[in-house]
Amino acid sequence: MPELPEVETVRTVLSPYIVGQTISHAVVNLTKTVANLSVNQFIQQVKGQTITNFTRRGKFLTLHLDSGAYMVVHFRMTGTLTVENADTPSQKHTNLILTFANGKQLRYIDSRGFGHWWYFAPGQTDTSGQQLLGPEPQQVTFDYLKKQLTRRQTALKTLLLNQQIVAGIGNIYADEICFRCQIRPTRRGATLSETELQRLTETIPAVMQEFIQIHHVPFVVFIQSKGLSYQKDTNRAVYGRKGQPCQKCGHPLVGTRIGQRSSVYCEHCQK
Ligand SMILES: [Zn+2]
Repeated sequence: MPELPEVETVRTVLSPYIVGQTISHAVVNLTKTVANLSVNQFIQQVKGQTITNFTRRGKFLTLHLDSGAYMVVHFRMTGTLTVENADTPSQKHTNLILTFANGKQLRYIDSRGFGHWWYFAPGQTDTSGQQLLGPEPQQVTFDYLKKQLTRRQTALKTLLLNQQIVAGIGNIYADEICFRCQIRPTRRGATLSETELQRLTETIPAVMQEFIQIHHVPFVVFIQSKGLSYQKDTNRAVYGRKGQPCQKCGHPLVGTRIGQRSSVYCEHCQK
């Protein structure tokens, strides 16, 4: 599932090819992709509008339009975006296409089809869920984390996945953050020491920033990967490495399930 660094990669790589473009028409191939309008309403609303900005909040992307309306995109499990020439054949699972006046297309590809687009007119209440998000990882402070985490008996992993506490962290980076902080993902929030909270305060934004930089690729490479260049799993210390030796101590990493989510950690390094 794309998390903050992957979603940010899509935004930064595609922004120069999207911002300033006028939508000449839209096609929706999977009806349920559009979450809050009928397909016909969506197509009518976006036609002729110019994209003025492309922003991210947590794992949500927003395409701002010149009318003051905006579209929100959430990739869920398998969504991504590419920009292609209109005459380039569509790959499978291209569920939504915006054709620009310059002949290019912004294509939304989502093999499992769980992702959503919303359209909000100026002044309309945003029901995408992004209004409920906690702060961005770059904005968390020691005092904020102390207040949010230490009053809860929930596992740290589950707290890090809670988008209302910190926006943008998913299964991969929750495990990576716990490893860097040398804290077991099963530890209850209320048991975290001030030293551990300080480590989390520094590590949460650092891990996100590091993986944003790792994932960033030139536009051509991104398009060749069909918008999935970020799926390379290099540089992950624990996620997906169950049974492999810990990079720090060599002990085999162990797997467990926390709140229905698979988790990998080092029993030796993480306390
Ligand atoms: Zn270890």
